[in-house]
Amino acid sequence: MTPCVLKFGGSSVATPERIRAVAELIKRRAEVCHPVVVVSAMGKTTDELLNLAYSVSKNPPPRELDMLLTVGERISMALLSMALHDLGLKAVSFTGSQVGIITENRFNRARVLEIKLYRITDALKEGKIPVVAGFQGVSVSKEITTLGRGGSDLTAVALAISLGKVPCEIYTDVPGVFALDPRKFPAARRYERMDYTVLSEMASSGAKVMHSRAVNLAAKYDLPFLILSSYEPEKGGTLVEKREHLESPGVKAITTMPVVMFDVEGREGIPLLARMVEAVRVLNFSHDATGRHLVLFVPVEERERALETLSELGVRFALREDLAMVCVIGWGVSAPEIMDTIFSVVGWEHIFMMGSSDTKVCIAVEREREGVVVENLARKFGLYGTA
Ligand code: ADP
Ligand code: ASP
Ligand code: MG
Repeated sequence: MTPCVLKFGGSSVATPERIRAVAELIKRRAEVCHPVVVVSAMGKTTDELLNLAYSVSKNPPPRELDMLLTVGERISMALLSMALHDLGLKAVSFTGSQVGIITENRFNRARVLEIKLYRITDALKEGKIPVVAGFQGVSVSKEITTLGRGGSDLTAVALAISLGKVPCEIYTDVPGVFALDPRKFPAARRYERMDYTVLSEMASSGAKVMHSRAVNLAAKYDLPFLILSSYEPEKGGTLVEKREHLESPGVKAITTMPVVMFDVEGREGIPLLARMVEAVRVLNFSHDATGRHLVLFVPVEERERALETLSELGVRFALREDLAMVCVIGWGVSAPEIMDTIFSVVGWEHIFMMGSSDTKVCIAVEREREGVVVENLARKFGLYGTA
């Protein structure tokens, strides 16, 4: 039987009941393909482990953080294998290191260099279901590494490619990709099909549904994948694939993300920017050489690291913490008529920053206006209702 990669996110395995439900689902899928399962840590386990680390140390060494965080996925892989055994399936759990997920020498957000598939091929030959811990690997220098938050998606895509571009199903807590976050905007339109590029732009601008590096890897190897709900798989989901030639221009999605704005004074703008980009995920920057200002936007999760880096650099800066970045994503979205609509809906005076490319226009607005701005833009661009 052909292998298929089935990935279950933290929300899908948050409780013992959910783990048993997921095992049932895997059993049903095993009737049509040979599952290779990838699993994330249960519920909020990774956040709790991170909090634990910071309650012990102000500045935990990155190596020890990875050693700690990988435990989350070890718990769920073992429990899920037990639940599969109870259903009469031969399952065997493996850490990322055991299956040869080789990463670069970097902690906390290592890139995958190679997958050796060591134990997976043998397990498949023996008719067993491998259950692989997502989000982790082993570096070239044999250290345990993690791939970055949300990284189990990357494990799944990388495994599906290594196994010979086999079917890949990403099970989460919503039935596919929507034009807006369906938890905040329940009327958002759902897509049955979607292009890699649109999802990649969404993922890098705050739509958590799939890790952006996982989407980019799938696009690179042209590996279509399905995103669906583990709670209601019968509802179907979104097939993410290559579709440029089929897509008409227009807005497909809107994302939002809370951000912090740093306004740095001084002449050293550009060298300082290089240091910041290395240390922190900078979403957008602008440099005003005459006014000698460098303005940077970073996601709120990067706030501490940005503050630390700026104080190490010894520069003077002001910050604003009440902003959100709203991105309008689609094809040809920097066209004048789309820009005009954005300006007229949001109002110039409410826009703190703007950046655009052919597939994304992002603006920073006050966080308290975020909901209204998204509502109005979504209505204008027809993002409610069924696709
Ligand atoms: P998992 O635990 O399965 O990895 P995540 O929490 O990482 O799940 O991602 C799923 C969440 O992504 C959903 O609960 C949803 O709120 C959020 N999300 C944000 N934007 C979108 C969108 N446009 N379409 C679907 N889900 C979205
Ligand atoms: N457990 C990890 C995290 O919370 C990886 C993942 O969920 O994909 O970031
Ligand atoms: Mg996720």
